[in-house]
Amino acid sequence: MCSTPSASPVCADQVAATAACSNPVTASENAAAVRYAPAFSTVYVEEAAAGLPRTKEILSKLPKATVIPCKSYREIFNRPHQEPTRQKHAPALILAVGQPPFLYDGAPVCQDFGNRHFYYTSGVMNCIFDCEYCYLQGMYNSGHIVVFVNLEDTFAALDEILKEHEAYVCISYDTDLLALEPLLGMVKAWMDFAKDRAGLTLELRTKSASESVLRKLPALPNVILALTLSPEPVIAAYEHRTPPLTARLHMANTALSLGWPVRLCFDPMLAVHNAADVYNAMFDTVIRTVPMAQIRDASIGVFRISGEYLRRMRRCRTSAVTCYPYELRDGVYAYPPDIAGRLLSLARERLAAVLPEDRLFFWETESSQEVTQ
Ligand code: SF4
Repeated sequence: MCSTPSASPVCADQVAATAACSNPVTASENAAAVRYAPAFSTVYVEEAAAGLPRTKEILSKLPKATVIPCKSYREIFNRPHQEPTRQKHAPALILAVGQPPFLYDGAPVCQDFGNRHFYYTSGVMNCIFDCEYCYLQGMYNSGHIVVFVNLEDTFAALDEILKEHEAYVCISYDTDLLALEPLLGMVKAWMDFAKDRAGLTLELRTKSASESVLRKLPALPNVILALTLSPEPVIAAYEHRTPPLTARLHMANTALSLGWPVRLCFDPMLAVHNAADVYNAMFDTVIRTVPMAQIRDASIGVFRISGEYLRRMRRCRTSAVTCYPYELRDGVYAYPPDIAGRLLSLARERLAAVLPEDRLFFWETESSQEVTQ
């Protein structure tokens, strides 16, 4: 049963299939029996956000939604004893006004691509997709989606930073902004901001394959479309509601033809059953389909997560990914070095054949580096 007033009646019987906690990671569990209701049939609007232009614009696109005023988004989003996994089947939307800081320094577990001034923003919290390995399950109490409608305050904060030095900003880390673009229009707003800002580079990370959305956006040299790619069996088992690999590759090719700088992200790689075969088949497909010489760069990493997030993820979801017996190293839970090393070696071997070394960015712990060397 869903635990918040936003639950629609159809939510209760939409229980995701779960894998037994004791199973090793395989690429077949949790693939079936996941059904979802339409998202955003309920919209909570924070007092301070009511009447703001972006709030009105978003609400105008949801004419059938039940709109509920609230004093603060935290009343809904931070409430204890929620069931985020079930809420994700029919998430509510929460429109709120964000407070400073609007930009954060990149986390140690994130790839900085050699950028000295690396930031991310959290203008939207939570995601319309439902990946079983998603760290957001460890961050948030809720499966609902919060949108901070005062994006212009983030732009003002970023302009202050740009007076001092250049900035590399990930705008789609705690969400998938492109997947929400038809409703929010925030990617377009970011691109309008970025087009005149020397020294600013944006990364737009996504699993979306919506070419119609992409075609409505301008391609800019300083906005990188970072597409996350996974093997088809991994997508089917763990990346619920996301587009298949073929659609993501088509999106990559369309983006290249439109002039976007494109990054391919093979992150997180998972230690699935027959991982070598599964990932080799994916790299075969990618290399055959995408003109790799035109790719800006590639990002590669194995699944890793902080201890606190992993504990919370295990509480809200019994999954072969969350229940894997990871090892704790340098404060991060990750695969044992030999397993991580084998995955990374495979990726290095396949990608080094088609991309120069300086365009490959690996996230590695010291111990997995020893194995891959
Ligand atoms: S697409 Fe990314 S942000 Fe969205 S659920 Fe999957 S891992 Fe999380």
